[in-house]
Amino acid sequence: MNAMNTLSADLLRARIAQHLTYTMGKDKAHASTYDWRMAVSYTVRDLIVDSWFEATRKTYEEQGKRVYYLSMEFLIGRILEDAVINLGLHEQIEEVLAEDGMSLMDVVENEPDAALGNGGLGRLAACFLESMSTLGCPAFGYGIRYEHGLFRQRFQGGRQVETPEDWLNQPHPWEFERPEACYTVPFKGHVDTRDGKATWHPAETVLARAYDTPVVGWQGKWSNTLRLWGAHPTELFDLERFNSGDHTAAAAPEALARTLSRVLYPEDTTDSGKELRLKQEYFLTSAALQDILRRFLSEYDDLSLLPQKVAIQMNDTHPALAGPELIRLLVDVHGLEWDRAKTIAQGCLNYTNHTLLPEALEKWSTWLMGRVLPRHMQIIERIDAEHHAATDCPPDLRIVHHDQVHMGTLAFVMASHVNGVSALHSDLMKQTVFADLDRAYPGRILNQTNGVTPRRWLKLSNPALSQVITETIGTGWEDDLDRLKELTEHDSPDLRAALRRAKRANKVAFGNWVQANMGLTLDPDAMFDVQIKRVHEYKRQLLNVFETIARWNAIRKNPGADWTPRVKIFGGKAAPGYFTAKEIIRLINDVAKVVNNDPLTRHLLQVVYPANYNVSMAQRLIPAADLSEQISTAGKEASGTGNMKFTMNGALTIGTLDGANVEIREHVGAENFFLFGMTADEVLERYRKPDHARSAIMASQELQDVLQMLAEGRFNPEEPTRYHGLLDHTWNHDPFLVASDFSAFLACQTKVDAAYADTDRWDGMVLRNIAGSGYFSSDRTIRGYMEQVWDAKSLLNR
Ligand SMILES: *Cc1c(COP(=O)(O)O)cnc(C)c1O
Repeated sequence: MNAMNTLSADLLRARIAQHLTYTMGKDKAHASTYDWRMAVSYTVRDLIVDSWFEATRKTYEEQGKRVYYLSMEFLIGRILEDAVINLGLHEQIEEVLAEDGMSLMDVVENEPDAALGNGGLGRLAACFLESMSTLGCPAFGYGIRYEHGLFRQRFQGGRQVETPEDWLNQPHPWEFERPEACYTVPFKGHVDTRDGKATWHPAETVLARAYDTPVVGWQGKWSNTLRLWGAHPTELFDLERFNSGDHTAAAAPEALARTLSRVLYPEDTTDSGKELRLKQEYFLTSAALQDILRRFLSEYDDLSLLPQKVAIQMNDTHPALAGPELIRLLVDVHGLEWDRAKTIAQGCLNYTNHTLLPEALEKWSTWLMGRVLPRHMQIIERIDAEHHAATDCPPDLRIVHHDQVHMGTLAFVMASHVNGVSALHSDLMKQTVFADLDRAYPGRILNQTNGVTPRRWLKLSNPALSQVITETIGTGWEDDLDRLKELTEHDSPDLRAALRRAKRANKVAFGNWVQANMGLTLDPDAMFDVQIKRVHEYKRQLLNVFETIARWNAIRKNPGADWTPRVKIFGGKAAPGYFTAKEIIRLINDVAKVVNNDPLTRHLLQVVYPANYNVSMAQRLIPAADLSEQISTAGKEASGTGNMKFTMNGALTIGTLDGANVEIREHVGAENFFLFGMTADEVLERYRKPDHARSAIMASQELQDVLQMLAEGRFNPEEPTRYHGLLDHTWNHDPFLVASDFSAFLACQTKVDAAYADTDRWDGMVLRNIAGSGYFSSDRTIRGYMEQVWDAKSLLNR
């Protein structure tokens, strides 16, 4: 039993009332949901602070190795509900709020999502922070405190329209501003070299100020810190200009500085190559490394000890300047020899690769790098020269070639360990992009399959299923998710029925939300077939809409047949500049409009696309899903984590052998997974066929019918040519092999229909999916990093 559970409702009542009165300055009679949310948040935060201090004290005392997780993105979502669940205060707070006619759910939903990330990569960082706290691994997350997170999505005439996100327009109760933790981050200017010693004279400087958020682990036993950097001007404003009347110009330095933490770049896989982005990456990296060195030097005076006390994880290449920056600080500021500095830096650094898509591998022109970070350009060139000398690599394996700095190569060369994020992805890394580097630096590449935190993604988001699990195997699975295996020992008609009831309750709840927000009535007994993720061609939402259209056709041809009713649910944002992805969004909405208004098929097929997919929507939707669509072109999805959340929540997967799908299938059993499509090898083979799209289309009457309907403007009579570009793209390019996998997908969906119709069989498959999902806890992933990458120890219970 954790300490928090013994906190009395009386104490909570008193503290909430105290914060309502004295922090919010509100009388109960006039307090809004917002006031209550703030009062509850401050109350819960106060309870975390003690364990937070205790964790810091213990880390200093034990001189433990600290882990620093550097990430440009942390897709956190709501904080209060997570803290309440981890502290086990759910019931007490609910009770206290009810006395004043408030519901905890309303209070929780008043909080805006902290959307400081685009998708999987940022959400992974958030799950990792929570697992590091749960495991008592002393750690800091370092990121940027974007004033505006990922844009909000609306649909206008079916098209995606972006509006700015504004989560900080009200006070953020979870952060502590640290005016004293402040570092100068330099940019531009020139470098003087005298007697072999380089001195950088920057032309611009910006202040990085720390904002700390405690991240509490399961049962409140340990808390780590998420430290986000906000950009501030080094000089407030130009008083001389202000006094002379030029008020706009006077404020320019301040505005310029603040741009650095103004907004998150909305591209999730493409590399944008913009100066501001490079500055953001350096801003995060430099502030974090200065902070790490300051903390280290407050405890130790021998910099050689750094690799024993500090492990730095680079989440993708975005913080890959950590290598050159750490060398710069050690050599230019702390006066170390180059060789020693480089060895120390390499001993601390590790790099996680997240994608093999060529358009996503970051590159910066040497011109831009040299202009924005002249000293780093010199350091990178020396690292490159030594890399070249040591490995005798061909020119295209150098960090700098064709006037570009290749950040993947830089990160690889400067890291102790380089990891992929699923078994397949790590293998493909060794066979493709990093094949030569793997030979040059054998053993450096290893695998750490991603995971998700079961506290947020099961306990919190799916109380109905959690209750069934606890009633069946007892508590304790929340931080020992392998225990879900025990569910199979309890397989019985009763357990299957209980799982089914929990799922149905979640579907009804989601249906109510859709009714209230979109005015559509869903049938909770229909199969909820869900594809939610960023919209990207490689994820193949297009394959799914094509199947939807083919299904509609088939039903219309034979409406009296024994159809399995389905609700096709889509969710996801496209990068604002990604034209094809936006076309796909529009197509889904056009299809939804027509299909949902067909009286002949309405009871058998509905299409729903709620706007603005985010963490909170995922928490609402995943527990209600029967079928999880994980249908990327094999070899393109590094891991996926959405796929894991669905499995944990008792949705069956229809998927390709891609990313972590491969391991999910192994853990739940091949007979409990709907596999279809080409393998990664077959995909490569298929690309060699110049007419792969056309020949696949000609082989499928169903696909031809779908494409013909799009050609005729069947879903958009007001502008029949709307999808001609998309059609041309499909017939002549089809870069992600939608046509080539279409028939296999259709056939597999027929099997899914049959399985769903056999309730008992389906329920048995659901049971085996939940029971097999324990491996996909991010606790398992973090243990892997602690043992194989960071060499870090838990300080809990010591
Ligand atoms: C889990 C998650 C993702 C990642 O989903 P994938 O299907 O793995 O791409 C993206 N966005 C949100 C909001 C998530 O919760």
